[in-house]
Amino acid sequence: MKTLKLAVIGKDVSKSESPKIHNFIAEKLGNKISYERISIPENEFENRLDNLINGLDGFNVTIPYKLSIIPHLNSIEGDAQTFGAVNTVLTGERKGYNTDGMGFMLMLEVEGVEVKGKTFLVLGAGGAGRSVAKKLSDGGAEVFIYNRSYAKAKAVADEFGGVTALQTLENKTYYAIINATGIGMHETVGVSPVGRELLSMCEVAVDLIYVPWVSKFLEIAAGLGKKTVNGEQMLFYQAYYSQCIYFGKSADLNEAKTLYTQYQEKI
Ligand code: NAP
Repeated sequence: MKTLKLAVIGKDVSKSESPKIHNFIAEKLGNKISYERISIPENEFENRLDNLINGLDGFNVTIPYKLSIIPHLNSIEGDAQTFGAVNTVLTGERKGYNTDGMGFMLMLEVEGVEVKGKTFLVLGAGGAGRSVAKKLSDGGAEVFIYNRSYAKAKAVADEFGGVTALQTLENKTYYAIINATGIGMHETVGVSPVGRELLSMCEVAVDLIYVPWVSKFLEIAAGLGKKTVNGEQMLFYQAYYSQCIYFGKSADLNEAKTLYTQYQEKI
């Protein structure tokens, strides 16, 4: 079997967990890979991209290049087309895919978070918020989306349908609240995007952030006795789905779940 040359590219991927996760999955599945982190300053992205495409078999794409990669590809498939964002590239065919939404949905399933017929509040209408809102709506949930700039939330609701944009955030009952903003990480560690009162009215709090492991948002929810889920499984499962794409293998949900359990035992 050929060793695939893979990487994660983004503006600053120096702390990315992707190499660790991909190497773990590859070892367990008997896949041969090399996987590096490639940080690219924004002013170098356009010039360096062709060299990367020629030098790698595939790569993952993260902030802020999930959209700007698209003009360099021959086609984008499935969710990448729906979301207009790419997180996985097969360089040979210059094809783009997006596995974030699938990773999110598998995380909910594994954690026993129901979707069909439930009411969700999605905080944030950036790349992740858009994907999550669309996936939940497709899964039969009633979805409300809130963003600090209303226009962005409205654009998601207009584009996808089945999603309602909120102009203001009122304390109202939701089955689950998803934090898809960056609030709670980096310079906002210790800050929650919503307060106790709103969290007290939900059953489940999901944060896409996993560094810190317990964000302020999850800390408040856990203190109120709510079910909490952080974003690490989403990261793991999107990597699993990406690796299936790199090796042309069908995804197997049970295999993905077993691998995550083994990964947790190892770290
Ligand atoms: P993005 O496209 O840059 O969107 C960021 C969102 O956060 C926007 O809605 C933005 O609001 C909001 N935001 C950021 N700082 C804010 C602040 N101080 N106050 C209010 N709103 C603020 O980023 P993204 O790709 O969607 O990622 C969002 C989060 O999800 C990040 O924490 C990222 O790490 C996480 N994520 C996790 C996974 C995983 O696998 N676990 C995958 C993807 C993303 P505006 O529109 O008003 O700027």
